[in-house]
Amino acid sequence: MSLHNAIRRCRAATGAALAVTMLPGCHLLHHQQAAQAGPKLKHVTLASQMQPMQPIDLTKFHPNEAGEVPILEYHNLMPSAKVSDYEYPAAEFRKDMEWLYAHHYRPINLSDYVQGRIDVPAGMSPVVLTFDDALRGQFNYTSDGKIDPNCAVGILEDMRAKHPDWALKGTFFVLTDYDPKMPPPFFQKDSAQAKMEHLVQDGFEIGNHTVHHWSGMRHWQDAKVEAELAGGVAGIHKYLPTYNVQTLALPFGIFPKHRKLVIQGESGGVQYHNICALAAGYNPAPSPMAKKINFYHLPRIIPSDRKIKPGGRFTIRWWLSQMERDKTKFVSDGDPNTYTVSVVAKGDLNPARLLKNHFHLRTYSGTQLVASK
Ligand SMILES: [Zn+2]
Repeated sequence: MSLHNAIRRCRAATGAALAVTMLPGCHLLHHQQAAQAGPKLKHVTLASQMQPMQPIDLTKFHPNEAGEVPILEYHNLMPSAKVSDYEYPAAEFRKDMEWLYAHHYRPINLSDYVQGRIDVPAGMSPVVLTFDDALRGQFNYTSDGKIDPNCAVGILEDMRAKHPDWALKGTFFVLTDYDPKMPPPFFQKDSAQAKMEHLVQDGFEIGNHTVHHWSGMRHWQDAKVEAELAGGVAGIHKYLPTYNVQTLALPFGIFPKHRKLVIQGESGGVQYHNICALAAGYNPAPSPMAKKINFYHLPRIIPSDRKIKPGGRFTIRWWLSQMERDKTKFVSDGDPNTYTVSVVAKGDLNPARLLKNHFHLRTYSGTQLVASK
């Protein structure tokens, strides 16, 4: 199937999924389903020793490290595109990034989120930017060999130049030409290698998005699932031979019948091992140390598809404004080794996982520390 057709199918599949899931109160429902369904997180690599806790000034910041983290999902950026699930005007993307910056969001990579390493300054909130399908509008060179200022990488590098505290972080779930019938990543064959290397050098992350972007994974035999997931890794290794591919976004958010296959498997002598798997929608993700979380079914939010979501509900901008209004976002204490929450929110965190992963837990009421260990 051509990529064009694959994306067209992706649209149809997204519509069907939304029709089922976009019900009032689905936010909480999603969390509960995610907590109950699928395998538990087993394999995270963290600093093996507990680091000392850093002091905090509660008169300046009120951290909420039980809060939610938006994982944003973008596809192609086009100068003249209309807003949809799979195409987005570059100017609107730039506005999103500036809005995030002004509202104290700072990007982190998905693997850092999964491993609980939220390394943003005190008072700031993490956001995970993800880009699917390795489309040209995500990373484009102009005819004079420069990075297109209107592609995602151009806009993010410009953000970094304007705002030195904006980290170059984000996760690109790429499709490659591991199968030679597929287009090269980002659709410019001569510069595909340079682009893949450039992303990693910048600090971005590369994730697995399968070989062919086929739909219907839930009906496949195990061997076919493993071939697509191992092939996704092999396709990335064609450009970055030693890269540790550990994040997965499933095309259309469709999972295989045997969910354990998203964690690890092998095909054709290539092994894969994922620390998380992303679904297709449609709400912010919980704190990585939340009681209710399934790292193998993490939700994302998309720009818009007005036909499916009248009034732009459940889109990136809708969710971000809801999170401001309801004060549900994760607010950092500035100490990546410590989770700081109000006494009220303490019950939302998983104390056993905090301990197991060598994080401190600190609680406060008003401007007073209540407990820390
Ligand atoms: Zn995709």
